[in-house]
Order: sequence, then structure tokens, then C-alpha cells
Amino acid sequence: MAKKGKTFIISGPSGVGKSTVLSALFQGRNDLYFSVSATTRAPRPGEKHGVDYHFIEPETFRQWIVDGEFLEYAEYVGNFYGTPKKYVDAAMEEGKDVILDIEIQGATQVHNLRPDVVRIFIAPPSWKELERRLTARGTDSPEKVQKRLLRAKVELQTADHYDYFVINDTVDNAVRELRAIMLAEHCRPADRIADLNQ
Ligand code: ADP
Ligand code: 5GP
Repeated sequence: MAKKGKTFIISGPSGVGKSTVLSALFQGRNDLYFSVSATTRAPRPGEKHGVDYHFIEPETFRQWIVDGEFLEYAEYVGNFYGTPKKYVDAAMEEGKDVILDIEIQGATQVHNLRPDVVRIFIAPPSWKELERRLTARGTDSPEKVQKRLLRAKVELQTADHYDYFVINDTVDNAVRELRAIMLAEHCRPADRIADLNQ
């Protein structure tokens, strides 16, 4: 039987570069599974249904909550986001490491349910650079950019609960640090000793 995969939560302010860094991390890796969340927000240009998110109506989102489909869900800047449970569990059973790109409230819910998840916070090199990236992405109004910045400052205050802190100055550096963290987490004594005894 394949060894079970681990779950890694990636959180960080909107616009810090999580999607960019994760897509670089996933290049050429079929041992990783990206958990595609459901959201009630509208797709950004280039985003694909079922790839970036499951884009669903608020009514459907409520039904999925009632049906117990979510491992966690949360409201973020006026929209709902949630992690469908069944795909996460199936991927872990297949031995894949699962990556959840979710905000802090959701990360806390998952950590309470499954304390062995690894939580990684991705931060910008500066607030000024975060504002620049959010604006350069061009998908949010100036008002939404300010809301996201405010939310980012609140999020950073809780980031010391995370297991790791990665700074996305360059994509290459951030990917290198993520790879190092994932490798180190697979060298924990409990896992290694269990492997020896198999
Ligand atoms: P998130 O998924 O965290 O909301 P994105 O991946 O959409 O963020 O990135 C936001 C913007 O910042 C994009 O325009 C992206 O090209 C840019 N970006 C991401 N990482 C970097 C980086 N290390 N240096 C400069 N720009 C970056
Ligand atoms: P965005 O709208 O920029 O794609 O995402 C906004 C925020 O929602 C980001 O912080 C992202 O990590 C978070 N997010 C995405 N999917 C989920 C999810 O399934 N659950 C939770 N709790 N947060 C999510």
C-alpha cells in the first residue's frame, strides 16, 4: 500500500504571489495534488472552472455546506471559499502530498481537525511591493485593493502560529524554500520509523 501523503497549507495575503509560486512548484511534479477550492467569486481573466476554482453560485455553496462536502470554508472579502473534502482524502490515500491554498480562518479549521497538517505562510518582501503586485494584477478595483491590503495586515499578525514563513521576494527563492520545507517534513522521525517497520 502506498504511503499516505501529507497536507501542506499555504496561506498569505491576496496578491503576494501564491498562485504564481505554486504553479512553479508544480512544474513536472505528479506526486503533488493541488486542492481546487469552490468559490462564489467571479473568475478572473484566464481562470478556468475546475482548474483554478470550482466557480459556483452562493446557493450551490450553501447546499455543499449542508451536504457536508467541505473540509473547511470561510468568507473572505465578500465571497465564500471552501475546500471539497473528498478529493483531498483521495489524493492523500494515493500517496500524494496535498497543497491547500487557503486563508487563515480555513487554515485554523483544518488544523483543529487534523493537527498534523503543515502550515506555511507566504509573505511579501514589503507592504509597498504587495500593493504594487495587487495593483499590477489589475483584477481588483482600487477599493478592493485597499480592502485586501487591510486584510493582509490583520493576517500577518496571526502568522506566528504557522509552522513556516516564506518570503516571496523572487519566485525561485520562494519555490526553493517550499521544496526544502516539504522535504524536511518527510524526514520527521515518526514517519521514518514507521517506514522502517513496514
Ligand atoms: P495570489 O495568488 O497570492 O493572490 P498571484 O500569484 O495572483 O497572487 O500574484 C499577484 C501578482 O504578483 C501577479 O501579477 C504576479 O505575476 C506577481 N508576482 C508573483 N510573485 C512575484 C514575485 N516574486 N515578484 C514579482 N511579482 C510577482
Ligand atoms: P483569491 O480571491 O485571491 O483567489 O483568494 C482570496 C483568498 O481566499 C486567498 O487568501 C486564498 O488563499 C483564499 N482561499 C482560496 N480557496 C480557499 C478555500 O477553499 N478556503 C479558504 N478558507 N480560503 C480559500
